[in-house]
Amino acid sequence: MMEENKQVNNENKGSRKLVKCIVCGEIFDSSYEICPVCGVDKSNFIPYVLETTDFKKNTEEYFLILGNGVAGVNAAAAIRERNDTCSIVILSNEPVLCYNRPMLTKSLVTKIEPKEIAVYDKSWYEEHRIINVLSTNLNSINIKDKYVVFDDNKKILYSKCIYALGAECFIPPIKGSDKKEVIAIRRYTDVKKIGELLPSIKNVVVIGGGVLGLEAAWEMKKVGCNVTVLEVADKLMVRQLDNEAGELLGEIIKDADIKFHLNANISKIIGEDKVTGVKLDDGRLFLADLVIISSGVRSNIELAKSAGIEVNRSIIVNEKMETSVSDIYACGDCAEYKGLNYAIWPQAIEMGKVAGANAAGDNLTYEIVPAALTFHGMNTALFSIGDNGKDETLTYATKEIRVDNRNYEKYYFVDNILVGVILIGDTKKMVDMTMAIQEKRTYDKMF
Ligand SMILES: Cc1cc2nc3c(=O)[nH]c(=O)nc-3n(C[C@H](O)[C@H](O)[C@H](O)COP(=O)(O)OP(=O)(O)OC[C@H]3O[C@@H](n4cnc5c(N)ncnc54)[C@H](O)[C@@H]3O)c2cc1C
Repeated sequence: MMEENKQVNNENKGSRKLVKCIVCGEIFDSSYEICPVCGVDKSNFIPYVLETTDFKKNTEEYFLILGNGVAGVNAAAAIRERNDTCSIVILSNEPVLCYNRPMLTKSLVTKIEPKEIAVYDKSWYEEHRIINVLSTNLNSINIKDKYVVFDDNKKILYSKCIYALGAECFIPPIKGSDKKEVIAIRRYTDVKKIGELLPSIKNVVVIGGGVLGLEAAWEMKKVGCNVTVLEVADKLMVRQLDNEAGELLGEIIKDADIKFHLNANISKIIGEDKVTGVKLDDGRLFLADLVIISSGVRSNIELAKSAGIEVNRSIIVNEKMETSVSDIYACGDCAEYKGLNYAIWPQAIEMGKVAGANAAGDNLTYEIVPAALTFHGMNTALFSIGDNGKDETLTYATKEIRVDNRNYEKYYFVDNILVGVILIGDTKKMVDMTMAIQEKRTYDKMF
């Protein structure tokens, strides 16, 4: 299936009717019933007009892309679209071509191979003359003489560099978190480890009640494990939901026979040879053969920082995705624009495209991608987009519709303009709501 899709992705996009998946940001032919990348159905697709470019600047430059995630690969594609003669090298410490990272938690126990979820297959890179250097860890960047150095001291020169090293899972400093049966999911190798342990797993504790933690909890529940979610905050999905929606989600989780505990301060992960449980500060103990940590991510900024590139929590970029150092651009989970980094797939795609285009000499401006999330699991669906009352400096007007105890809608307005939406249960309005946020729809046009 993936092979066919990739061809559709790359052939004559301009002459076909296209759609964009609002879940993962992928663009493809409108005849598809499900998204070829993340697998959601067509209720998640919005019409898409492909912006083709006439910009061309053929040069002999060396474009070096650090990181082969979706940001890096989109940057590479944007460069080749504008420059037929340059060299493009993309490097990664992972041993495989760019793959669909969001699928990791959604296919946790299905033993999926990276090839099956590859964003593009090998022939796409050959066709676009993009060289992949895999299994190679980058060690430093010399911004003065414009080269990078690998762990084995080999160097590569660049004319323009795209820094797209993504992020890593944040592992809270919990005693016992270095044990083999404690896993944070970022790479396909993490999922592989869970697959290997699976036959001996009965009790699972997930540390973190955000969307990825809950996705993982549901996958483990589906294969018959006893699952407990421990969340340090006083609500679930604290970033995306408000109090009311968080409480409703809690009820839904209980109905799915998954236990969860809020305000859970972890004391330690216990077990001698193997993990046996997780202990809280208040003395409660939860049995576990596997602990999945899902406590957010941290941008990979260390190499940038040591090289003298300006960073905050992520690498600071302007609307062109330029960093503070000339000829170095940044994009994806490692970059922040106007202080924002949602660390989501569609944002990485958009930032990557803008970084690549501008590095190639074009003049694109990044438009902030709204923070959006969908969750399918626990016998429900959930959609959240935009600002759901999180900015203390703003005054919100809200409208709440409780259809029944499994279906819920909440709308946030600022100055009469829709800024955020939460849908639980029936999410078929999510495409319309994505467009409503983009269009800045007013209250009277909504109800
Ligand atoms: C399990 C999971 C589920 C997710 N689900 C969703 C979802 O449902 N929806 C959504 O919008 N987003 C989701 N995300 C987030 C989304 O996957 C990321 O926002 C996106 O993949 C970021 O892409 P990137 O290119 O910026 O970085 P990455 O994909 O992290 O790519 C960076 C690459 O650089 C490599 N690298 C790092 N350091 C070095 C080094 N020193 N030397 C060489 N290579 C290096 C890394 O190994 C990696 O291959 C999910 C993420 C995870 C982990």
